[in-house]
Amino acid sequence: GPRIILREQHGITRDHINSCALKVTSGLQEAGYSAFVVGGAARDLLLGLEPKDYDVATNATPEEVRAIFRRSRIIGRRFRLVHVMCGAETVEVSTFRGGTSAGEDEGITADTHADEHGRLLRDNIFGSQEEDAKRRDFTVNALFYDPVHEEIWDYLNGYEDIEARRLRIIGDPVRRFREDPVRMLRVVRLAAKLDMQIDPPTAEPIGDLAPLLQNVPPSRLFDEMLKLLLSGHALACVLDLRTRGLHHGLLPMLDVILEQPLGERFITLALKNTDERVRQEKPVSPGFLFAALLWHEVVAAWNVREAAGEKLIPALHQAMDDVLAVQNDNLAIPRRYDAIMKEIWAMQPRFTGRSGRRPFRLLEHPRFRAAYDFMLLRCESGEVDMELGKWWEAFQHAAPGQREAMLLKDE
Ligand code: ATP
Ligand code: MG
Repeated sequence: GPRIILREQHGITRDHINSCALKVTSGLQEAGYSAFVVGGAARDLLLGLEPKDYDVATNATPEEVRAIFRRSRIIGRRFRLVHVMCGAETVEVSTFRGGTSAGEDEGITADTHADEHGRLLRDNIFGSQEEDAKRRDFTVNALFYDPVHEEIWDYLNGYEDIEARRLRIIGDPVRRFREDPVRMLRVVRLAAKLDMQIDPPTAEPIGDLAPLLQNVPPSRLFDEMLKLLLSGHALACVLDLRTRGLHHGLLPMLDVILEQPLGERFITLALKNTDERVRQEKPVSPGFLFAALLWHEVVAAWNVREAAGEKLIPALHQAMDDVLAVQNDNLAIPRRYDAIMKEIWAMQPRFTGRSGRRPFRLLEHPRFRAAYDFMLLRCESGEVDMELGKWWEAFQHAAPGQREAMLLKDE
């Protein structure tokens, strides 16, 4: 059975958790089911962090959950979950699942299938609470918090690992990384985000298994990369991925980031800048970030075309299309970001126009802010003279009547 940790020891009272999660867990318990806050939320509470979102796990089936909460709906076809709404908030409720190969037994059951590399293709069977703990990735992500009784249920010594600030994969590391290679990216992201050490036996096989990321669907890799880049610790994560050999030839986007010497300074600045914004809870646009990550690719292609005699602006537009075609081909960055990236890039040459009506028109452009921030990054990285950034800073804040006097006569 689990180790049960009482409030006196863990110190988490029920008023630490959001009211919707409390309502859902107590509603389920009143109806006779067991119900816990699980995963990242339980972990973050114990670490003194504010959970981003709340997941609840229960022994009630999705239909049973649905019957208890009027404002709820069943979602997902493969693993069905219930979204329960309270006010503007939503809590995701999942039924305990089993059927992974973690633990002692081989555990490959009729409804669990793996590909030839051991990657798990389906894991949609219900199971016991203990099985639900074991199919999770890291011990610190497998804790159950019961806010009604204010107890933590721990099947896998996750509580000790929280105290030691240690990320330990559940079960055999090689088998669990084979089952789902994305766990290699998750461990890097969580170590940076939670300021935890990766347990050596967990870290050890990553170098050898890195090529398995090639078998993961690109859209899943993209989702995980986006989480990593928007974690507030992107720079640290990206550097750590490089030291663990998780970038080369695997994630096209990361190759781009790490293998262009020209762009390294620019990208470092862009990631630092993003990290600061995330930590200050300012909005971050993925399109802006991707535009920055690919900028020096664009510049390189632009230079080649210009050297071959193409005109400046058409050469830039062609270069943008060249770079995006490669990205779209290997599915590194989904097409929905193309328009914003192109707009930011295409506006860059316009910042040099500082005479006549042109600066006024640029200022009114709906994407001025993003393009201006981007130009400042170019200044900071040494690509563009800082004087240009200073001029635009002054120009946009100048009183309308003073702007005329700032215009340059001719460039
Ligand atoms: P974050 O704070 O970034 O949301 P998280 O741990 O909550 O981190 P989620 O992706 O929200 O991450 O996943 C919720 C929970 O689902 C995890 O805590 C873990 O228990 C389980 N989980 C998520 N991804 C995996 C995976 N690839 N393999 C096994 N279990 C996973
Ligand atoms: Mg989460």
